[in-house]
Amino acid sequence: MSEKIVYLDNNATTKTCQEAIDNMIPFFAEQYGNPSSMHDFGGEVAQYLKKARKQVAELIGAADPNEVIFTSCGTESSNMAIRGLTDPHKKHIITTKVEHPCVLNVTKHLEKNHGYEVTYLGVNAEGELDLEEFKDSIRDDTALIAIMWANNETGVIFPVEKMAEIAKEKNPKVLFFVDAVQAAGKIPVDVKNTKIDMLGISGHKIHAPKGVGAIYIRKGTLITPFMLGGHQERGKRGGTENVSGIVALGEAAEQALNYLDDEATRVKAMRDKLEKGILSKLFNARVNGSRLHRVPNTTNISFEYIEGELILLHLSDLGICASSGSACTSGNLEPSHVLRAMGVPFTAVHGSIRFSLSRYTSNEEIDYVLKQLPDVIHKLNAISPFQKELKELKEIKESAKALKCALGDKRCCEQ
Ligand code: PLP
Repeated sequence: MSEKIVYLDNNATTKTCQEAIDNMIPFFAEQYGNPSSMHDFGGEVAQYLKKARKQVAELIGAADPNEVIFTSCGTESSNMAIRGLTDPHKKHIITTKVEHPCVLNVTKHLEKNHGYEVTYLGVNAEGELDLEEFKDSIRDDTALIAIMWANNETGVIFPVEKMAEIAKEKNPKVLFFVDAVQAAGKIPVDVKNTKIDMLGISGHKIHAPKGVGAIYIRKGTLITPFMLGGHQERGKRGGTENVSGIVALGEAAEQALNYLDDEATRVKAMRDKLEKGILSKLFNARVNGSRLHRVPNTTNISFEYIEGELILLHLSDLGICASSGSACTSGNLEPSHVLRAMGVPFTAVHGSIRFSLSRYTSNEEIDYVLKQLPDVIHKLNAISPFQKELKELKEIKESAKALKCALGDKRCCEQ
């Protein structure tokens, strides 16, 4: 493994922040009491859970910390919301074709084994939804709408606040669940002023450790508990709490809130610098997804006519960590369902790379990637079986650039 590590895979997981680590350590060997115990030793631990619940509530703008239920991860939060449906007469669910598997595999399971009908909304070439189509899809028997706030592959943001309003206007009883795993800590999230009923987050995407997450369940929302057991989490999620993880999640949530401005300014500027640099240096690079409605840390770039896996392997040798939307990288044999839903050409889906930054990314690291990546792409272009297509693409891009320069367009050096 390379000694130098430039970690640009923060949508996969993040480094645990030092504040979270420092705060969780006492709960292993010193304050190891069970928060449900009657004695003070346990009772004291319960106070730390209370604090963490408040910290998470503040990150997502919940009016009451008791609306926050701790889970083991974002996947569990989505399962809890979707599998918790209670009305046997309402068997219609609306979701999108670009959700994370923790939603799509649950809706597929309900379709196959429990008689549910599911509408999967498509997206346009920018990865965006059609709100008219969404409105039309809402029915009297729609039990639940499950929509992600930000897409994990492209970073594209869905207007979930507006969608929740549209949904409740058409069917006031429908439940609205938002998978906010890739939104929390990157853009402002304030559930109390929305019509969102449930919202999931994951610790390891916001600089808390793996193995902890949370779900917001608005007061009065009826769902059947998914994890049956003791009375923990007010009976909504049985099982002795992962105290150290929850304390760390609380601390990470507080830090994430403090860093929101940094995300919107410094992190975004570094992402834009990386993206612009790549587009100006490499003719076969193209950005996938809306560049306007995106979380600040993510860019998904296709290098047409070359293989994403090969790019990742070369980058990995240089210590650069990113991820690919093409086959195999996630143990999945299919190329990205997100990029396919957007109609990205097959030869571009296969060469797609997601770079996702964080508050720990530095400008020097971006410079390093911009220095190293062109050589990797040039090498792979040279061995691509699509030489004719690459040549044609290069000619098209060069004449477009020449035309822009001739017209005095300052963006002539971008693509
Ligand atoms: N939802 C989205 C949008 C994600 O990106 C992920 C993880 O990548 C998840 C849910 C699942 O989160 P976890 O890994 O905590 O189960």
